[in-house]
Amino acid sequence: MRLRNFKVVGLLFISVFLVSLNQINAQQMIEGIHYATGKPVQIKIENGKITEIKSIQKLKDENSKIYIAPGFFDNQVNGFAGVSFAFGESDLTKEGIEKATAELWKKGVTTYLPTLTTNSQEVLVRNFAILANSVSDEKLRGSIPGFHLEGPYINPEDGYRGAHPKQFVRLPNWNEFMEMYKAANGKILQVTIAPELEGAQDFIKKCSEKGIVVAVGHHNASKEQLDLAVKNGAKTSTHLGNGCANMINRHVNPLWPQLANDDLMISIICDGFHLLPEEIKVFYKTKGVDKTIITSDVTSYAALEPGQYKTETGETIELTKEGKLYYPAQNVLYGSASPITKGVGHVMEVTGCSLKDAIQMSSTNPAKLYKLDDRGVLEVGKRADFVLFTLDDFVVNVQQTFVAGEKVFEQ
Ligand SMILES: [Zn+2]
Repeated sequence: MRLRNFKVVGLLFISVFLVSLNQINAQQMIEGIHYATGKPVQIKIENGKITEIKSIQKLKDENSKIYIAPGFFDNQVNGFAGVSFAFGESDLTKEGIEKATAELWKKGVTTYLPTLTTNSQEVLVRNFAILANSVSDEKLRGSIPGFHLEGPYINPEDGYRGAHPKQFVRLPNWNEFMEMYKAANGKILQVTIAPELEGAQDFIKKCSEKGIVVAVGHHNASKEQLDLAVKNGAKTSTHLGNGCANMINRHVNPLWPQLANDDLMISIICDGFHLLPEEIKVFYKTKGVDKTIITSDVTSYAALEPGQYKTETGETIELTKEGKLYYPAQNVLYGSASPITKGVGHVMEVTGCSLKDAIQMSSTNPAKLYKLDDRGVLEVGKRADFVLFTLDDFVVNVQQTFVAGEKVFEQ
């Protein structure tokens, strides 16, 4: 009898010991300068979530100027580090998606929307299915909540179409879109469309009813068409100032109506090449911090060595040391090679906005737009998705990245 009691007590002791050991393991403390207040804080993480945020007198390393902020959220990622989500020939794989995600973590991006651009229905359906089958993979730690479809329902004219292949640009077709939506397992969070196309307004309405965020982009919509699109549910404008013809009328053009509509948010590419500083400043001043999103539109050439590359269609493109990606034959940009990280510093430099505002535009606003209320802010109960960085002369240098409480990158 006594021996049995002893055994029970012993077992109880061991299990209590193991449980507390587990809790210690699942608990972490992280310190940094809070991006919004500029004051040192200590953040407690338990089971992947923030459980406490405490002000502290000073950081352990008093001289360290390491900021802590919610991880960046990029809503337009065509590819990264040699992996393309959008193209047809190079086969998209689970390993490729893991690689791109891990490389984005190194840049402080903890959430992103793989973006599929204009292509054949076959490629779009196939790539959505591959992505949808991969995103719940534990290795990705919830970094991909869904996808962005940019095209194929865009303006076919040169300039407005951008680099989207003309042969696959087409009119909105709900049945066709539903085929993609099913392949994507219902995870298409945003569609970028030109509102002036035949059938577009009805399409916008249907998407909005399904809770899909509609963005206007690569379009030449009139003021009436643009305002109607917003009335029908369009919420934002994709990379304002790009996907537009070079020569436009100074009065009647697609930029003014988008700037003038107070119910429309915008995303802007702040890589230092796509928009002039004065454009970024005016767009930001007009829309304000609550209605502006920093995006990257980054391609598979990002995070590669500078040099010349051959595209899938055989053109030679060049990536410069400064991160400019262009097509020398026509001297035009060939998409972006800079992650959103660069935009955070650049928007501060050219608009004079605070770090708090830059983070709101690159983390908080996109999370809100897609109603992902588990992320995008430093608050108790949210996912422990952080970026720790120094800010040196408007350059964000990522030191550490945490995704769902796990350190996934350290400099
Ligand atoms: Zn575009």
